[in-house]
Order: sequence, then C-alpha cells, then structure tokens
Amino acid sequence: MIHVIMTLADQIQTLAISADQAIKQAKTLVDIEALEIRFLGRKGELTTILKGLATVSVEDRPKLGAMANEVKILTEKKIHAAKERLGRENIEQTLAGQTEDVTEPGIRPPEGHLHLVTQAIEEITQIFERVGFTRTRYPEVEWDWYAFEALNMPKDHPARDEWETFFMDAPESKKFGKMILTPHATSGTARILAEKKFPIRAINIAKTYRRQMDITHTPMFHQFDGVYVDKGVGITHLLGILDYFVKQFFGPTRQVRIRPFHFRFTEPSFEMDVSCGVCGGTGMIGKEKCRTCKRGWLELGGCGLLHPNVLKAAGVDSSVYSGVAFGWGVERNYMMKEGMKLDDLRMMYKNDLRFLQQF
Ligand SMILES: [Zn+2]
Repeated sequence: MIHVIMTLADQIQTLAISADQAIKQAKTLVDIEALEIRFLGRKGELTTILKGLATVSVEDRPKLGAMANEVKILTEKKIHAAKERLGRENIEQTLAGQTEDVTEPGIRPPEGHLHLVTQAIEEITQIFERVGFTRTRYPEVEWDWYAFEALNMPKDHPARDEWETFFMDAPESKKFGKMILTPHATSGTARILAEKKFPIRAINIAKTYRRQMDITHTPMFHQFDGVYVDKGVGITHLLGILDYFVKQFFGPTRQVRIRPFHFRFTEPSFEMDVSCGVCGGTGMIGKEKCRTCKRGWLELGGCGLLHPNVLKAAGVDSSVYSGVAFGWGVERNYMMKEGMKLDDLRMMYKNDLRFLQQF
C-alpha cells in the first residue's frame, strides 16, 4: 500500500512542478489556455490523478485528497496571474503599435476651387468696390423695355439684330413688352438709372444669352456693365475709371486707349483697348510680330457717355445729370489677363477638369 501512496503523492508533486514551469514559460494567452485544459480540465492530468484516489486506503485518502486540492488551487492561482500579466502585455503591445507620430504630414483630401469665371467675377467686383461701386444683380429674364427700348433702340430698330435674342414663351407686359433672356448686362444699367439714387456707381455682372454657338461664342456668357452718373460726370472720369481698372486687373504697366465707335446707348461712344502684356504694347517680339495682339493693343470692350435718350427713358433730367458707362465680357477679360488664346471658348463650360484645374 505504501508503494501506491508514494506513487500518487509523487504524481501530485510532479504535476505541481511541471505545471509551475509550463506556466512560467507561457508566452501568450493561447498558451495559458492550453495549459489550463491540460492540467485542470475535465479530462486533464489532475482529474486523472484524483480518479486514482479510489484505489488508496480510506485512511490515506483525506491526506492525498487535501494535497491534490492544494495543488489544484495553487495552479489555478498561477494560471489566473499569468492570464492577467499576458493580457496586460497584449494591450500594451497593441497600443505601442498604434502610436501616432504627430509630426508626420497628414493626408490632404482632394480640394476643388472656384470656376475661373467665378474667380474673375469676384476679382472684378472687388476692384470696383474699392472705388465706391456696388455690384447689382438682376433676373436672368428681362423685359424688352430694359434690354432695348430704354437703351435707345426702339422696336424694329436694326441695331437690335446685333443681339440674337431668346424670347420667352410668356405673356407680354403692356408696359414693358415681351419677356426675353437677358441679352446684355446693359439692361441692368437701364434698371439702375430708373431708381434715380444719385450718385450712381454700380456694376452689373450678369449671365447673358444669345442664340450663338461656335468656337468664339457660347449661348450663355457673362458680361459686365458699369455706370457712373452724377452732376458733371465726363470723359475724364471714364478714362480715370478705365485706367484704374486696367492697372488693377492686368498690372501696373498696362495702358488704356479709346477709339471712336458707335453704340446706341452712348454718345459719344468708344471702343477701349488695353496695351498687350505679351509684347509690352510694341506689337513686336524681337523681329517677329506679336501673335497675341494687333499692333500692341487688345480690344477690351465698349464705353462712352450715356446717351441723353437713355437718361430720358429712365426719367433722369439730362440737363442736370450726365454719366459714363462701360462694359465687356468677363470670359474674354479673364483670358486676356492670363495671356491665353483659347482655340475654343466652349472649353470654359465643358467642365473638363483637365482644363479647369490649370487655373
Ligand atoms: Zn502683343
């Protein structure tokens, strides 16, 4: 019997020692869980030893039982401690791997920008605001009266042919005539004048519509019309405004000139040119002719003194008040600034990012 007791006691002690060593050597939580099953599981080594208790004498049984129980509790404690240690290390390692380097450059999300026409409109507006002009806005549909009649172009006048107008399928107004898509920004000038709040310093930047579509025309484009009306306003004011704008928008070395022309709503009327930025206004690059301009000048737009009939149509006394007006296309203006020669103006509105991202 002694032999049996010794064997069972030996087995319990051997198990205690091997469990202790294995737990110490465990590297991961998975290792520990495997050891728990191996030593303490339902079919584990300690369970097998406890089954052997049935074969020992009744006197020896409590002593061996207590011994086995002690080893069981001790092993459980060691496994529990090992789990805690390895679990903590696991979290620390994970956190260490996730450490962020705050000095590392971030990833920039893709960033868009305003369309080049919108950029040009903003810049033009700001330049004129600095000298007391206010930007005005009017609907994209307009009455015949403001677009033509108030601008010294009576019904059936041939000058109307220059604007290939879109007519709206809408009821006619007794007072203002047919409804149309705004054919030029000058109709805004007629509306501003009719308000008669002097002095008038306004710029109307508008979408304008004409029935034209080719490489130099789009059915919708932007125009810009400025007006300054007060007592004693003359051509010197006009030249001062144009020179200021050209130097602000195109650069301090650019010059402006006016040439006699004819418009229905101004008298006298002029075309205005700005000196070419590519050849410096000389028309020549070395011994070659400049390809951007005509003899050193670029046509920018039209201008003049408001026609007395336009003031009269707005109910303004032309013997007291006088005014100057000027206007041109925003797209064309912008292209001249950038020194671009667009082969096809329609590129502006094709929404091709390869084109738009260049600006
Ligand atoms: Zn040139």
